[in-house]
Amino acid sequence: MSVPLRQQLSVARYLVIQKLRGVKRYPLVLMLEPLFRCNLACAGCGKIDYPEEILNRRLSVEDSLAAVDECGAPIVSIAGGEPLLHKELPQIVEGIIRRKKFIYLCTNALLLKKRIDDYTPSPFLTFSIHLDGNRERHDTSVCQKGVFDRAVEIIRLAVGKGFRVTVNCTLFQGESAKEVAEFLDYVSDLGAEGATISPGFSYEHAPQQGIFIKGKDTKELFRRIFELGKKRRWKLNHSGLYLDFLAGNQSYKCTPWGNPTRNIFGWQKPCYLLVDEGYAPSFKALMEDTPWHKYGDSKNPKCANCMAHCGYEPTAVEDTLRHPLKAGYVALFGPRTTGAMAPEPIPEYAIDPRPTQEGAAVSAEATD
Ligand code: SF4
Ligand code: SF4
Repeated sequence: MSVPLRQQLSVARYLVIQKLRGVKRYPLVLMLEPLFRCNLACAGCGKIDYPEEILNRRLSVEDSLAAVDECGAPIVSIAGGEPLLHKELPQIVEGIIRRKKFIYLCTNALLLKKRIDDYTPSPFLTFSIHLDGNRERHDTSVCQKGVFDRAVEIIRLAVGKGFRVTVNCTLFQGESAKEVAEFLDYVSDLGAEGATISPGFSYEHAPQQGIFIKGKDTKELFRRIFELGKKRRWKLNHSGLYLDFLAGNQSYKCTPWGNPTRNIFGWQKPCYLLVDEGYAPSFKALMEDTPWHKYGDSKNPKCANCMAHCGYEPTAVEDTLRHPLKAGYVALFGPRTTGAMAPEPIPEYAIDPRPTQEGAAVSAEATD
């Protein structure tokens, strides 16, 4: 894990307080989506398929900061859309830093060269720059040539100015482990603090379907990547046990309340990936009224194959607290890349034996 000690200690302190207070469900990262408008239209994006009047809406500075206060999570990930299109983003960022929360500002970097002087380097601010692999792979993923080179130029500029920078990489169909390993080597040489890496979620609203990696293929790909990564100096911004989960060594259940989402519609149920499940008017209502038991890989067909860090990183963090020795072993030796994988979850929604009038089995989820 490449996160600075100051941030690790702050998050550890927060976790200890939640445990001492006996809080059953607590947020770790607030996903703040202040707008859905973007200056790109990526093949796997599930966020920009809205009518113009929705794309023109913005979350105000006041509402953004109220969400940060209401939620209380120690980390705020500002996503979208492209957050740098929000004219008041510098004020939002400044307000969050004043609250001593750690910000990951997720951006495709195209506007950052022009806007970088609106921001001051701070231990609380990290630019998380979208790069889905090497030049050819990334430009294909964002459906525009030249974006990789511009993003790399900005990473160098931001690092040179003293900003914290990470790279945010989503993997899609057709990736080879060798290609991903070479990309992670390249990122290490760029001077970025670290990289996040996870499989793309099969958004129902993504412009291109069929580009998402699924199930065992995902775990096998990660095993091959981690095998190549042994003795290399990659800095991955994930807990060791989340990486172990990606490699198929942990059977985890999703913890969607760990990364609650606030956007222009309200507090999104249950996570930022599922867009048609409704909204709560407040963080309290989100935590109390969301039917959490209905979500997760085995519980809901919409969650099938999801291994996204917003759902499973908080599970891995909980597991780390419960089993520090296991976590320490994985941190020292890396995820296991051979041998049997942990059992796949058995879908509960597909095994309801009740016949319909036509005699076919029904989905338990559909009748819940
Ligand atoms: S994935 Fe990110 S950069 Fe691409 S269109 Fe969606 S919001 Fe924009
Ligand atoms: S498994 Fe969890 S994180 Fe993934 S889509 Fe379902 S609720 Fe969201």
